[in-house]
Amino acid sequence: MLINRNDPEIGKRILQELTGLAEKAACELGRPPVLMEICGTHTVAISRSGIRSLLKDFLVLKSGPGCPVCVTDQSDIDRIILLSRQPGVVIATFGDMLRVPGTDSSLEQERARQAKVEIFYSPLEAVDFAEKYPGEQVVFLGIGFETTTPAIALSIRQARKQGLPNYSVFSVHKVVPPVMSVLLNDPELGVDGFILPGHVCTITGRKAFDFISADYNKPAVIAGFESVDVLEAICLLLKQIIQRQARTVNGYARLVQEEGNKKAREIMNQVFSPADVCWRGFGIVEGSGLKINQDYVDYDASLRFPVETDAVSPQSNFGCACGDVLKGKINPGDCPLFAKRCTPLWPVGPCMVSSEGACAAYYQYELS
Ligand code: SF4
Ligand code: SF4
Repeated sequence: MLINRNDPEIGKRILQELTGLAEKAACELGRPPVLMEICGTHTVAISRSGIRSLLKDFLVLKSGPGCPVCVTDQSDIDRIILLSRQPGVVIATFGDMLRVPGTDSSLEQERARQAKVEIFYSPLEAVDFAEKYPGEQVVFLGIGFETTTPAIALSIRQARKQGLPNYSVFSVHKVVPPVMSVLLNDPELGVDGFILPGHVCTITGRKAFDFISADYNKPAVIAGFESVDVLEAICLLLKQIIQRQARTVNGYARLVQEEGNKKAREIMNQVFSPADVCWRGFGIVEGSGLKINQDYVDYDASLRFPVETDAVSPQSNFGCACGDVLKGKINPGDCPLFAKRCTPLWPVGPCMVSSEGACAAYYQYELS
């Protein structure tokens, strides 16, 4: 039987079970359990449903590096801004990138100064746009985790199929498992279990995250995005803590399989190869990025339009603590600028801009 995963009655029942489990887990650990969600959509779901504040007396829910826009390094944002200033270039992007501040500008500001910036909901729309306007050089901003990369790989293959010389991709793609290893190797992390990103896992499969429990002895649960999914995932984590177990459990079996989506990964691997890339707050993470490979090198915007920025970019904008928020070192409210100098109307850092950003979610739903 299908259950309504937003049903408040089911939610209440799970919540009751959960508070008892949290107490037992706290006895086991000698302190309240600390769990981390590492997906931006989970952060929003947890803030919007009030789960974080409802559970604050029983356990701590931290947010991690879950939003691809937020983890894009400042130097990459600066490069994108320089790209938008190239004559004849049209930047094609998902809307979230528009207001992300670089060191001295944003795409929104560049657009006000006559740069051409177009918003698309899918990269294939950008390919159509390139076909329609052969006089423009359309550069799609490839920003996303495993979830968005297959569609961008497809757009590159489509541009080749159509013989379009004016479509390319600026790849800032990232993959999640390597940054999880960086988090897990951090001696200050203090997290007892992870809520894993359901969308990413539909592509990677459960097994790609097995190392969290196998190598680091931490419980992890893949979760869907409704309130009941998140509450169930928390219960499954607490049960493991109580039983002193560590397994990587698939709590989103209606969409996630053991091996994930092989077809999507094949398409991705045809076009992209792993690369060492820089994450905001984390620095260079080995094998955590995807660059366009040799077979499709003609579609690599970073080679077609080489732009240089300072080799070392500032870690953050004007005191912005996004890097620490993304590593789970602080909560958004601990940033001195939160809700003062930094608001969704006047964002100082990307975590306040992106719809999946932790600061934006806490500001919108948890500011009392
Ligand atoms: S792309 Fe999907 S899995 Fe990744 S942060 Fe966004 S919603 Fe979560
Ligand atoms: S509140 Fe603003 S300045 Fe502070 S970490 Fe969040 S986005 Fe950065």
